[in-house]
Amino acid sequence: MIAFMISPVPGPAAGSLFGLAYGDALGKPTEFLSVAEIERRYGPAGPRELVGDPALVTDDTQMALAVGWALRETPRYTAEAVEPLLRQRFLDWAASPDNNRAPGMTCLRACAELSRGRPWQQATVAGSKGCGANMRVTPVGLLDVDLDTLAGLAQLQAGLTHGHPTGLAASELTAYAVRLLIDGAALAELPGLLTERAHEQRTVYRADWLGDLWQRSGEPTPEEFITRGWDECLRALRRLAAALAGPDDGGDPCRLTGEGWIAEEALATALLCAVRHADDPVGALARGAATAGDSDSIAALAGAFVGAVHGMPGWPAEWATRIEYADQLTALATAWER
Ligand SMILES: [Mg+2]
Repeated sequence: MIAFMISPVPGPAAGSLFGLAYGDALGKPTEFLSVAEIERRYGPAGPRELVGDPALVTDDTQMALAVGWALRETPRYTAEAVEPLLRQRFLDWAASPDNNRAPGMTCLRACAELSRGRPWQQATVAGSKGCGANMRVTPVGLLDVDLDTLAGLAQLQAGLTHGHPTGLAASELTAYAVRLLIDGAALAELPGLLTERAHEQRTVYRADWLGDLWQRSGEPTPEEFITRGWDECLRALRRLAAALAGPDDGGDPCRLTGEGWIAEEALATALLCAVRHADDPVGALARGAATAGDSDSIAALAGAFVGAVHGMPGWPAEWATRIEYADQLTALATAWER
């Protein structure tokens, strides 16, 4: 029960955090529905109204809050300082009675191993690049840190559960996308800017953040390990660029950039929704929610992107008090608004 509510500040950090939760809530009922069934229930434009009071979110928002609070509590942005806080927040989430929102198997498996006190490089699911690591990473993009620190934090929070190099690279790109938008980039510029970043980072293994994680992969060197992840992201970004080169036919974006169950597709398909509806934030959420794929994660990331551009004025005002965890979203946004 929330005793009182402070109004969220109107800036881009609030817009992005609330946008993530709004997209997650709109996509929650559609995650496991076909597009035909979604259109039958909501019409061709998809769901555009929050349902319930509170309007419930899923594990996407819950885990983004876990990352957010770990970042808020850390005395320093280093692997040594942040890792135990992330671990504790993830374990608290895993054990919470509210962890009943169709959570991802990779996160549950990794948390079970983390709870035994094992080093995270051993606890993580080394072969998983499910979208569970980048659906929760957007708070990293709100921090006022240099890009190496942003990259390290984004990859570390991914690595605790998803040890696959593509999970690491896609998480960095997702956080970097939010950062670019906060700094004033236009949504339409993102595919090009993210592609540039992926080329620059292609052989950069962040040992100071990841330690010996690469050794679980079977790759001969750390550079070859991480390059595999960046190259998969580059392929997804090429599909995104090809999709955006043509006109919008109004259909399911998953046909063009993938269903988003895996990390690089969640990023690409969410960006496709955001770019297509750059001036209609709720439309971006509805487009993400009306998909055959991982609707809540796609809509959540689309919301984090368009929300970073428009801030709270982009969202219906009355949603801010109805969304689940509004108090926590407000507290983090207030701390990080620049
Ligand atoms: Mg979810």
